Order: sequence, then C-alpha cells, then structure tokens
Amino acid sequence: MILTPKHQKMLDDLLDACRKHLPAVNEDLITKAFKFALEAHKNDLRASGEPYFSHPYDVSLIVAREFPLDDVTVVSSLLHDVVEDTDFNLELLTREFGTEVAEIVDGVTKISGLFRGQEITQAENYRKMLLSMVRDVRVILVKFADRLHNMRTLEFVNPEKQRRIASETLDIYAPFANRFGLGRVKWELEDLSFKYLNKEAYEEIAKKIKSKRKEREAYIKKFTEPIIEKLKEYSLNFDISGRPKHLYSIYRKMVRRNKPFEEIYDLFAIRIILDTPNSNDCFTTLGIVNQMYMPVADRFKDYISIPKTNNYQSIHTTVVGPEGRLVEVQIRTQKMHEVAEKGVAAHWKYKENKTASEKDMEGWVNWIRDIFENASKEDGRKDLLESFKLNLYNDEIYIFTPKGDLRRLPAKSTPVDYAFEIHSKVGYHCIGAKVNGKIVPLDTMLHSGDQVEIITSKNQHPNKNWIKFVASHKAKSEIRKWLNKEEEDIINSGKELWEKKIKKLKLSFNIQDVFKLALSLKYENQKYFYRAIAEGKVNLDEVLSATKDKDKKDRESPVLEFENFANIARNDIGGVLVEGKVDGILYSYAKCCNPIPGDPVVGYITIGEGIKIHRKTCNNLLRMSNKEGNKLIAVNWPGSDSSYFVSGVTVMGEDSPGILNEISHTIVAYQNTNIKSINISTINSTFEGSVTLYVKDIEHLNRIIDRLKKVKGVFSVERFESN
Ligand code: MN
Repeated sequence: MILTPKHQKMLDDLLDACRKHLPAVNEDLITKAFKFALEAHKNDLRASGEPYFSHPYDVSLIVAREFPLDDVTVVSSLLHDVVEDTDFNLELLTREFGTEVAEIVDGVTKISGLFRGQEITQAENYRKMLLSMVRDVRVILVKFADRLHNMRTLEFVNPEKQRRIASETLDIYAPFANRFGLGRVKWELEDLSFKYLNKEAYEEIAKKIKSKRKEREAYIKKFTEPIIEKLKEYSLNFDISGRPKHLYSIYRKMVRRNKPFEEIYDLFAIRIILDTPNSNDCFTTLGIVNQMYMPVADRFKDYISIPKTNNYQSIHTTVVGPEGRLVEVQIRTQKMHEVAEKGVAAHWKYKENKTASEKDMEGWVNWIRDIFENASKEDGRKDLLESFKLNLYNDEIYIFTPKGDLRRLPAKSTPVDYAFEIHSKVGYHCIGAKVNGKIVPLDTMLHSGDQVEIITSKNQHPNKNWIKFVASHKAKSEIRKWLNKEEEDIINSGKELWEKKIKKLKLSFNIQDVFKLALSLKYENQKYFYRAIAEGKVNLDEVLSATKDKDKKDRESPVLEFENFANIARNDIGGVLVEGKVDGILYSYAKCCNPIPGDPVVGYITIGEGIKIHRKTCNNLLRMSNKEGNKLIAVNWPGSDSSYFVSGVTVMGEDSPGILNEISHTIVAYQNTNIKSINISTINSTFEGSVTLYVKDIEHLNRIIDRLKKVKGVFSVERFESN
C-alpha cells in the first residue's frame, strides 16, 4: 500500500512520538498496523464527518505520548476498533499481529460491550468487574486512551449521547484512572464530563477563572519570588509554578463546602518540582517555605513517607502568604510528579531495564494488583479474611441480575451459587436458570458480565449433587444445612421407632448398648443404625430377639458401669451436705436422674426413705413438687469452690495403637487434670472406654470433652450418664 503524503506524515509523526517516549520500537509492526487500520476503516466516518481512521490514530498518539508503555500497546490501539466495527475478525488479527495484540484488542472490545444498555448504579462493582475480566493491564490503557479521545471529541455527537457518555466517564473511568495513578487523565476526564453534564456551571467557573487570571498571576509571582531566591542559594534545580486548578474540583468543593467560587478559588496553589533523585531535598524545600511563610498547623500532609495507595507521593502544606491569604504548596521530585501524572506508565519508565521483557511486564501487573488490593483493604468494607481470599479479582466474577444490579461471586460459580447469593429461599427452590436469556443446566459455569435469571418451583429442593458443583461458601453451607436437616429428620424418626419398640418389649438399652448393637450389625455408629431403621432396612423384631437370646455375660464389658462410677464419685467427694450439714441425716440418690458430683442438686423429703437427692432439672422432681407442695430441702456437694470432684466420660472410636496414650495425654494437657482411672476395651476395630477424672466444675469437664472429640479416630465423647 502506498501512502498519500498526508498519511505518510501521520505515520511519521506517530513513529517520532514512539521513538521519543518508548524504550523500544518495532517500526515495521507499527507501520503494518497503521496501514491495516487505515484499510479496515476506509469506508467509515466519524460523527464529526472525518474519516473514522482518525480515531484509532489519535488514540495511538495518546498512548505513545501520554502514557507510553510499549509498542505493542501502540499497535493494539491502532487496531482497537477493527474487530468491532469492520469485517476483519480476531483470527486475522492473530495471524497478522500475533496473539498478544489480538488478546489486547479482544479485551478492549469485550469491556466496551459491557457498558452498553446497562444502567450503571454500582460504579465500584463495575470497576472490579472490569478488572476481573482484564488479564492484561494494557487493555485498560488502550481503553483509557480510547475514552479520552471520545471525550475530547464529544461535541460532535447528539446531546443525549453526550450525557450518557459523560456520566459513564465520571462514574467509571475517572475514578478508575485515579486508581491507576493516571492523575492527569483523571482530571481531564472529569473536566470534560463536567462540561457536558453541567454546561452552565462549567462555563461560569471557566469565565471567572479567566477574569481573575491577571490578579492570580501577580500574586503568585509575589509569593514565589523569595522562595526562588532561597532555593537558588541551596543550588537546587526546580520548577515552580502556579498549579492549575481543575474546574470540576473547584465545582465539587463549592458544592461540598457550600461556598461561593470566590472563597474556594481564593486558595492559591503552588507546585514545586525538584529535579533531583533525592527525596530529602523535598524536606529541605519544605523547611525553606516554612521559614518564609507561616504554615497552617493541620494542613500538612507527608505522602512521601507514606505514599497513597495509587503510589502518589508529594508533600502538601498550606501557608499564610502576603496579605494573609492561604496558599497550598505541593513539593515533589520529578519522578514523583511523573508518577502522579502518568501513573503506571511513569513507573515503567523508571524501571532499570528499559526494554519490555516478559518479566518486567509481570512486575508491572503485580504492581497494579497491589494497588487494587491495598485500595480495597483501606476501604475497610470487607473483613480481613475476605480481603485475603477474594481480592485477587481473578478469583471473582460479577453477575448482573435481571434488573441490571451487580452481584459478586467466587470464580467458577454456577446459577445455584447465584440463587443462594440472591436469597436462601431462592436457592432452596431453584429449579432452572437463564443465562443471557438462554435456559442452561444448573451446573453451568458463569462468567463475569453474564446476566442470570433464576427459575424457582415450590416443590424443588436442594439435592446432594449440588454440593459437587457449587463454588461459594454460602451455597455450600446452605445446601449442607438443608441436607443435614433432612438427614436429622430421618434419624430422629428412626430413633423414635426404636424407642417405641424398646418400650413395648420392656427392654433396657443404654447408649453404649445401642452403639455396640449398631456395630455388630455393621453400622458405623448409632446414627446410621437409626437411619436404617427409618428406611425400613432393619427388622427390629429379629434383631432384638437375637440380642435377648444372647447370654447376658456376653454383653458385659470390663468397662466401668455407671452405677459403679456414680458410687465412686459420690464417695470420693464425701456425699452431699444437707442444709450445709454433713452428718446425721439419712439420704439416698434418686434412681430417676442419678445425680453425680457437679450436678446442681436438691433434696426431696420422702416418708420412710429419708431424703432423696435429685438433680434440680429432674422431670420427676418437678412433677412431684408441683403436686404435693413444698417438701424440698437445700443440699449441695461439698467444697464446690476450690476442690475437685470426680467426674466421668465415655469415649468411643476407632481402635489404634497408642489411642489410650493419646486420650490420657489430651486430658492431662488441659490444666494438668488428674486422672483417677481409665479403662479401654476393644471390640473388632472399635474401642470404648471410660475415664474418671478430677474436675473443678462442669465447665472444666466440658473443655476436656471438647478436646477429646478432636482426637483423631474418636467419634463419640460423652459425660458419664445413666441411661
Ligand atoms: Mn474506539
């Protein structure tokens, strides 16, 4: 392709800009992209009536001049609208320019498409969503340049579109640019948006600034002269200037502080940029300024020692200038200034190795990630755990509700995760889903930007398979909760059947007996046994007649029986005190509730049998005392303040070598607890044991029970109880 003189000049200008600002330039590739884009867009016009090619061309100039990064970004910006607006597709781009360029162009096309037709109500989520979709940060740079150029040429589109694009820019792009440290882009985007969103206010402020310009310049000259002299004495190289105030920031201050233009604008602003690599010179300069003019105490900010999250560094101070007027002074080095204005691109420039290697790019991407992670930590909206887990936006996706709201979900989420995110009820009854208007299976993996609608049915409930594909903690735990509840209902109904049967046959089974029976029938524990009963898999009559026939001795184990234990424990502590006294009163322990040391107890006066000691919570006792009036008497276990009493626990689990050792160690390790006795017996591959030990109170006992439950292989620990 032979270029016209006009196009040849454009290409030369672009190559010049690249040579001037970029570390390395592949001129052939840029020339090829230039010609390719020129050809691709040859039939299209912009709203201004210009050939469309002027847009990607200007965008590539912005990239080369204003945030120079590398030549790949320049090539990508020349081609950024090709796939979307012309007949050329991504495959062709890949073939001609390689996957790197094609992927950037694809990214730009995708994130542009997202905004269309969506009401932007959650700007913060949008920004995160964008980031979650962008693998290569260069996509964002091209998108910024694209938006900047569209904003600069917004006058040519209709007023409705102007407003839409301007508010989108103000809501999304400007804050986004700020996060990237692209200070100058941010200001420009804001001022341009402001111009189209509130033309009157914009023009009024612009007019006033213009009319005060002479006065302002004169004052700044007066203010800076003595500083300049002093700085020269110190032989510092510097640039000092009145800082241009941005229209939108003046406007925002007027609104926020509810003050007229004059009061806001009265604040003069000076910036001193030092040509030095040494940040100490900034503090020297601060000292000079403070010597000349009195600083205002609470207006000093040192962003050099503690940079902002977007890596902004500068000293800010406010001093009282001539005529008592306040002047804001910013002091920074040239490097800090470039970072403030050009953000990521400047950071790049100051890297030691100026060629764009893979590794540099990686470092840069990590640097961006850092900014974002720290930014959201500072936001403090999420707890620490969450910010560790989820702030790498690759781990998150953003999903639109049918109304266009955004919901955040972990990566690999499915419609079921989304349903539970909306509401647990939606999750419980979710039967199907539409993703971007199409019905899909419930285990379909969602992607950022998908719009999801859930179909529910009253008769639908969570099922086991859901656990296998859901990704969010919320969905998992809700489904488990549902399944457990279902499971529990089944177990309880089995237990009820069992207990009814036992009662009918007048049999007595304690918890250990049931457990042993369950094991002998090859159930892992009594829960599975009850479950099998509920499901009709156990013939209870058969099972029970078999146990009846067995020799009683056969079921006896060397393990301590409750009766024995209770006697040991009661004797050990010396019995109960009746109304505070030890001797002379006849009492015995009620069989209905079998109180043992540590239980809150009360005495019930009987005729002929003396006092019966019951637990305070005994149901029998409550019934009797209600019927026959006050026949209760205060009793308690002695020495409950400081001394210890004997208590007992039963432990069951898988038998393994060293389990006895493990159990006793666990007990002793807690507050050096004393063990009185320990008994373990083994049946098949299972053990059961009883331990008597000295505890201070029920709390002490419960702590030990909790610890024993955590011992590997142990599946049941219970306080020794009669049953
Ligand atoms: Mn474009």
